Amino acid sequence: MLITTDGTVISRREVGDNDVFVTILTPDYGLIEVSARGAKKYTAKNGGAVQLFSAAKYCISERNGRYYLDSSEIICLFYDIRTSVEKLALASYFADVIRYSATQGQTARNIYRLYMNTLHFLANGQRSCDFLKFVFEMRMASEIGLLPELIGCADCYRYEGVRLYFDIPQGKVFCREHLKRRGGAPYADVIEISSGQLEALQFACLAQMDRLFNFRVADKALNVLCYISENYLIRHFDHRFKTLDFYNTTMGIDHTRGIYFYEDE
Ligand SMILES: [Zn+2]
Repeated sequence: MLITTDGTVISRREVGDNDVFVTILTPDYGLIEVSARGAKKYTAKNGGAVQLFSAAKYCISERNGRYYLDSSEIICLFYDIRTSVEKLALASYFADVIRYSATQGQTARNIYRLYMNTLHFLANGQRSCDFLKFVFEMRMASEIGLLPELIGCADCYRYEGVRLYFDIPQGKVFCREHLKRRGGAPYADVIEISSGQLEALQFACLAQMDRLFNFRVADKALNVLCYISENYLIRHFDHRFKTLDFYNTTMGIDHTRGIYFYEDE
């Protein structure tokens, strides 16, 4: 069987002197693990197309349940990601999240578009790393069925004229009154948000894919959103990503600045 598909390399392992084993994210087949003979050298046939983060059109043949790369045509190398430690670390984390959530044989069209668009903006530097990370984390969670409830307070539906809080473990928004009425502390991981931050969360989770990155958030507001998206993803995936720890440690990132947790008065 022959498959021709667009795809992008989300992990790469070198085998022996010449061969490369890659995991490719594709829109129609989800993840495919492909063996690329003799492609270890960049200058080899298929050498560029099996670099981490490369996107290409791949011609893959299947024999006895294994996949082999026949030929490839590069679409984009995202070269600028490889020249920055910050971008490289962040892109590695994104790839890690995808490897953890997408499965083989399932279509992954939205995840593919999300990832490609995120890499595009990461490479060209038109959006900040914090912004891309926030959008990617919230949208990724939403795409795999972990969409939070973002209409307004989950109990009274208000979103204007009230103090709002995002409850990370529950994935719900509450006004102060209803948070208080629910009693039941502990309310660690319940963060105060503005109505503008609620809108940013709604946009990241629900906007059409081609408009997804077309909004702006001020730096201070973004820090709160980054805290929420990162902790929401970790909590609901129930997984710690080493690539995330590496990114945060290397870049000295601390999103707890300016965060207001809910406290009973
Ligand atoms: Zn309420």
